[in-house]
Amino acid sequence: MDSLTFVLFGATGDLAKRKIFPSLFHLFLDGKMPKSFTIIGLGRREWSDQTFQMHVEKSLQTFSKRSENGDASKVREFLSAFRYSSLDVTDHDGYKQVLGMVQKREEELGIPENRLFYLSVAPEFFDVISQNIKESGLGSIKGWKRLVIEKPFGHDLKSAQELIAKLSNAFEVDEIYLIDHYLGKPMVQNMESIKFANPMFQSLWNNKHIANVQITASETVGVEERAGYYDQVGAIRDMVQNHMLQLVMMTAMQQPTRIGANEIRNKKIKVMEFLRPLQKDEVVRDVVRGQYEKGYMNGELVPAYTDEPSIEGTSMNDTFIAARLWIDDPFWSGVPFYIRTGKRMKEKSTRIVIEFKNPIKDLYQEKNEETAPNLLIIEIGPNEGISIQFNSKNPLNHGKNEPVTGRFLANKKSMPEAYELLLSDALHGDSTFFVQWKEVELSWKWAEPILEAFEENNLPLHLYQSGSMGPEASEQLLQEDGFKWW
Ligand code: NAD
Repeated sequence: MDSLTFVLFGATGDLAKRKIFPSLFHLFLDGKMPKSFTIIGLGRREWSDQTFQMHVEKSLQTFSKRSENGDASKVREFLSAFRYSSLDVTDHDGYKQVLGMVQKREEELGIPENRLFYLSVAPEFFDVISQNIKESGLGSIKGWKRLVIEKPFGHDLKSAQELIAKLSNAFEVDEIYLIDHYLGKPMVQNMESIKFANPMFQSLWNNKHIANVQITASETVGVEERAGYYDQVGAIRDMVQNHMLQLVMMTAMQQPTRIGANEIRNKKIKVMEFLRPLQKDEVVRDVVRGQYEKGYMNGELVPAYTDEPSIEGTSMNDTFIAARLWIDDPFWSGVPFYIRTGKRMKEKSTRIVIEFKNPIKDLYQEKNEETAPNLLIIEIGPNEGISIQFNSKNPLNHGKNEPVTGRFLANKKSMPEAYELLLSDALHGDSTFFVQWKEVELSWKWAEPILEAFEENNLPLHLYQSGSMGPEASEQLLQEDGFKWW
């Protein structure tokens, strides 16, 4: 791998501390960092290199799961790559000092001008930082440069388009790596292999055999300390436009002619191009909006959304969304994709359930039996694995057919974290599991009529009890088509 300089904006922040430093450390332990590298942290605080290194060390002690965080020599070697410079990102002149530091480190280490800029800062700074990278000369390199940013990518179609236009002044589109951390989850990355490397599933992955697809991302937590932010964005902007649609794309994409970043990403775009747009007045038919009421979670009474600190008692914001989607291509036509996501739900779970068609449902009619549908369940979190439900005769129950489940579970302890996989890919220049701008644009296009319908209050806001699986209307959405949530 190329030697490089990793320039981290927002190095004193929460994401850096909880995810970025531990992930880089794990890559370092596994020999997945380049032979020579330096990490330059930037933040507003006036820190010395030593203070920064102590901060990184503390982050490893607190957030790294690996036992090597107690190995002083390994930790010391890793920390020696870190330098710090204070910078207000809006201070144009300050970037010259950063450039000086970067060049000095490149010279000391004898490494080429390969620079990765990671913006772990609020999105309103993306634009000013990329412009300053360009104008200061930080982006004028003989090697390669990459820009890594985190969602949100705009808050609607227009702002997303403006953002890409601005970033493209300083970086080529293929130098920009957009992180949706759901794409870093091992089982999401595994979707490709499950579907394409297994002829058994590959041959069934179409509307001839699949009855419906159900994608759930349920949380048990409420809005917590993000209340003020969440009340402005709601579940569509927080979860659906990005994470849920990424899961739809990963599930529905067709087999590419070869497994490569461009091929996979182009197949994902195809899904979005065929995703049936909802007209504003149709939203009420296919989308269910909900908000949590008080209820019991693990025996403890938790407050309603409108009684949460920092939330107005009159808030009409949604904390739950269920929706029915259609992909109008020859592979998926007629197969509903149901998605649901919400807070304060009964269980924390992200999973994809593929329900297969059941043409032999009545085969055992004479014995007064009905066979259950086959299910393939891809568990994304908190457990990571695959289950298959199939029918089997139970000799202990008069030889009747009963659904049984075979389950493969990954060893959680040895599974890398999403950020580890994504950072490793960004360092290698592999963009397979990063979001393309076209996907962002098409996702916003799809979400806009829904957001407009919400703003105009065109559909009811269903209340659901905390600790439930969402409002009754979400169950009805599937019942209308003869299905149920699994
Ligand atoms: P944070 O508020 O903890 O950290 C922000 C960082 O930006 C700090 O280092 C701060 O010093 C710096 N900063 C703010 N204004 C600055 C200025 N004018 N000049 C220089 N530096 C400035 O935020 P965070 O939680 O670390 O989140 C960073 C980004 O990552 C955000 O875009 C957030 O949406 C995204 N994100 C965070 C998480 C998470 O787990 N924390 C998860 C997903 C995405």
